[in-house]
Amino acid sequence: MNCLWCMEDRNNNLGWSDFFILNKQNGFCESCLSGLQQLSGKRCSLCSRMTEFEQCSDCEWWRNQFKSDPLEYNYSVFQYNSFIQEIIAKWKYRGDYVLGEVFRPYVYAAFIEKFTTQKKNLIAVPIPLSEERITERGFNQAEMLAGFLPIRQELLLQRVDGEKQSKKSRKDRITTKNPFSLEKMVKNPVLLVDDIYTTGTTLRHAARLLIESGCPEVYALTLIRG
Ligand SMILES: [Zn+2]
Ligand SMILES: [Zn+2]
Repeated sequence: MNCLWCMEDRNNNLGWSDFFILNKQNGFCESCLSGLQQLSGKRCSLCSRMTEFEQCSDCEWWRNQFKSDPLEYNYSVFQYNSFIQEIIAKWKYRGDYVLGEVFRPYVYAAFIEKFTTQKKNLIAVPIPLSEERITERGFNQAEMLAGFLPIRQELLLQRVDGEKQSKKSRKDRITTKNPFSLEKMVKNPVLLVDDIYTTGTTLRHAARLLIESGCPEVYALTLIRG
């Protein structure tokens, strides 16, 4: 069996017990797995950014800018680094679907750690891609991540604006009209799922729409804190 990333044979010099351990690791060798930097230690209770404070300066900014935050909190798994950036590029932009499997146990564990108290009626809602992006890439990475969770997934949101959000400044993005529309009302608490939390704007647009439509609480689980 070869590592999905570096293509080295993962079974070199390994005994049977190692073989079973590796089988749980979804295709990356030890050396490649060690390049993934899991968030640990003190982090912002609202957005998962590593900080000494209870809340980071980004979240302070949100709180000062708006009276209420539609997002209860975001929880992320990995710190952004150049290695995960490379994996994401290959997985997401070059359509290497199977690479995403490496994230499965981490995403599942983060869910168990942080969201089990809400687990009973929580619904996973992936952040959608535009039709155009789906056609380009073949799959939505957020749907794949949501599929790793032990809860129901519903595709409640749709993109209404194809314009690339990343080209705009943060201020522009906040004042822009909501890029999502909602398929139907939802009475359950929602866990939004996406690959990366950068400014939190996208997730908050989605959260606001859900809350305004009667959803009681919105949380977010993201793979990476950018
Ligand atoms: Zn490797
Ligand atoms: Zn924060």
